Amino acid sequence: MPVLIVPGPVGNTVGNRELFHSPFAHGCSADVQSCVPTGALNAKAQSAIAPAATAAEALSALPAAALSQRRLSGASWVNEFPTGTSTADLTPSFRDAVNAFIAAIDAAGGSVSISATYRPPERAYLMHYAWDIAKGTIQPDRVPAMTGVDIEWNHGNKTQSVNAAKAMVRAYEIVHRPSLTTNHAGRTAIDMQVSGMTNKTITDKKGKKVTIKKASDLHAVGATYGVHKLLSDPPHWSADGH
Ligand SMILES: [Zn+2]
Repeated sequence: MPVLIVPGPVGNTVGNRELFHSPFAHGCSADVQSCVPTGALNAKAQSAIAPAATAAEALSALPAAALSQRRLSGASWVNEFPTGTSTADLTPSFRDAVNAFIAAIDAAGGSVSISATYRPPERAYLMHYAWDIAKGTIQPDRVPAMTGVDIEWNHGNKTQSVNAAKAMVRAYEIVHRPSLTTNHAGRTAIDMQVSGMTNKTITDKKGKKVTIKKASDLHAVGATYGVHKLLSDPPHWSADGH
């Protein structure tokens, strides 16, 4: 038999856990093409096993082989699929809109700190399900798999699974339920902190001078540039306000 169990961070020795479940049992929105049923991963795991001498050997080898391909959830996943922090990572039209708005803020004497632009779909998946598991709205063993993300959400123990998801939520610094179909994945959103704008006068896209008295004044100026505020998510601006 080939060696299928790799050393390292897997360390999952759970015995009688349910490894696989019904495809699309929960929460996988149909418009996320990269979201695949776990049955596909099951088939992949099975095909990775060399011909077994007996059926019994194949059965006993399957769980270990499947586990060896996955890494348990936890804060270390936050380093995978990193977020872009440059406006160059945005679509050309939204990039130009954001750059013009930021230039206007700079010219008015304010400052901008960007924390996120492009979010890879894999990161959106990790953030979304870490949040849902942490909040108890989905069971760790019911999360659909995603191609290219070999995460094992189920530690075989509910408390450990939920705690690992909570650690991810903290490490991602999530404050708002992340969407699977976020504008960040479409390169049309930016998370940025704007400061120093109170009582400053800024020029909007039409050339009108606007003195900023309150946050909504700045939001209105952003809209003229095509950079729209999502009020429920403090740092988030996008092409369509979502
Ligand atoms: Zn955002």
